[in-house]
Amino acid sequence: MATKTIFQKIIDREIPADIIYEDDRALAFRDVSPQAPVHVLVIPKQPIRSWADIADADAGLMSHLTLVIRDLAKKLELADGYRVVCNCGPDGGQSVDHLHFHLLGGRTMRWPPG
Ligand code: AMP
Repeated sequence: MATKTIFQKIIDREIPADIIYEDDRALAFRDVSPQAPVHVLVIPKQPIRSWADIADADAGLMSHLTLVIRDLAKKLELADGYRVVCNCGPDGGQSVDHLHFHLLGGRTMRWPPG
């Protein structure tokens, strides 16, 4: 069996995380190295490696994650705006091979990102 990613270990409660939301398909927890006053990671419980590995059959799950992010932004009071980021693959800067979305807020973001 492939080695578990750090996010799979968080899903399986093998390592701690500051979990702020959970349902049957999604988990959200605070990033251990925050890049903004609010920095949350939203992940599917299903082990999809990256954006490039999303299957057509995952369309419902992806819609669900979109709505989870929207609702979390509201719950976290990011009324002035926020950024949602998904790094894909080595060139995209992905460091954990479990699909995840960064929800960043609480400060004005710059563009373009590095
Ligand atoms: P990426 O570089 O897009 O793959 O993002 C991975 C993110 O996971 C980084 O922002 C890390 O700070 C974060 N991270 C790594 N390990 C943990 C952990 N144990 N708990 C919370 N966040 C983590």
